[in-house]
Amino acid sequence: KPVVVLTMGMAGSGKTTFVQRCIAHLHQKANGMKEEDVCLPYVINLDPAVTHVPYEANIDIRDTVHYKELMQEYGLGPNGGLLTAVNLFATKFDQVVELCERRAAQESGLERTADEDGEDEDERGEAINYIIGDTPGQIEVFTWSASGQIFAESFASQFPTCIAFVVDTPKCTEPRTFMSNMLQACSVLYKYKLPMILVYNKCDISRHEFAIEWMKDFENYQQAISTDTSYAASLSRSLSLVLEDFYGNMPSVGVSSVTGSGMDEFFNLVDASVEEYNENYKKTLESNK
Ligand code: GDP
Ligand code: MG
Repeated sequence: KPVVVLTMGMAGSGKTTFVQRCIAHLHQKANGMKEEDVCLPYVINLDPAVTHVPYEANIDIRDTVHYKELMQEYGLGPNGGLLTAVNLFATKFDQVVELCERRAAQESGLERTADEDGEDEDERGEAINYIIGDTPGQIEVFTWSASGQIFAESFASQFPTCIAFVVDTPKCTEPRTFMSNMLQACSVLYKYKLPMILVYNKCDISRHEFAIEWMKDFENYQQAISTDTSYAASLSRSLSLVLEDFYGNMPSVGVSSVTGSGMDEFFNLVDASVEEYNENYKKTLESNK
């Protein structure tokens, strides 16, 4: 079964660029493979307001809902328009998952016919290994909305699913920004209850080792913020004590969506997250049935 990767993170953290890089990386890997082994990603854009998508999406929310028209028709502001667009799309999301399932089923179909009659292969297209979802920048539109949860739960009920929480590493060098990212990642984790990978993006600008050190040992973090006497800094200090348990063992990776560094490691973490999905999410799902 393909693994679903849902990107989340603050606006501008590089989710779209990261999705683009994931696709390029997987296509590059497929390049050297034998035709029958080729697996490619299936890509879904869930951002209704993006004007330019730098990759070829298999499913695009913009083909179904038109956010500018919604704004005019219902007299909504930009945020209301976005929310309405995503909510409308959520009502049809079972169809999206169905499409993905049908596409994913082609994998076994391909194998079956290839055994009996190799000629059928071409019509069926490649098998898919990952389903990658790009989400809207505004966190309240997706991450904190009912529709975000519908998207994630619909996927997770059919496929192993993980969240790639994309972090703007250069911005995180500021200790308080680091902490606000961690706080947000923490809330997303508890809201969605899915395996999460912290993706420190833009490592071509700032390497991410400092963040790993802060995550592993709160004393390192406290040292970094020790000269700051503001209230926010003092709050961050307290948070580092509480949140260390949460992020200390979180799978994390430094990548650059521009240069492509760290992508192999990222997909290793994605593959490893399937086990956690099976152990935690799926079991809970089944016991709730
Ligand atoms: P989104 O709002 O999270 O989808 O962010 P975008 O993918 O639109 O990226 C926001 C900005 O960050 C763009 O100007 C990107 O070119 C830039 N960006 C994204 N990833 C990287 C990266 O790995 N390195 C650098 N240097 N810039 C990046
Ligand atoms: Mg984007």
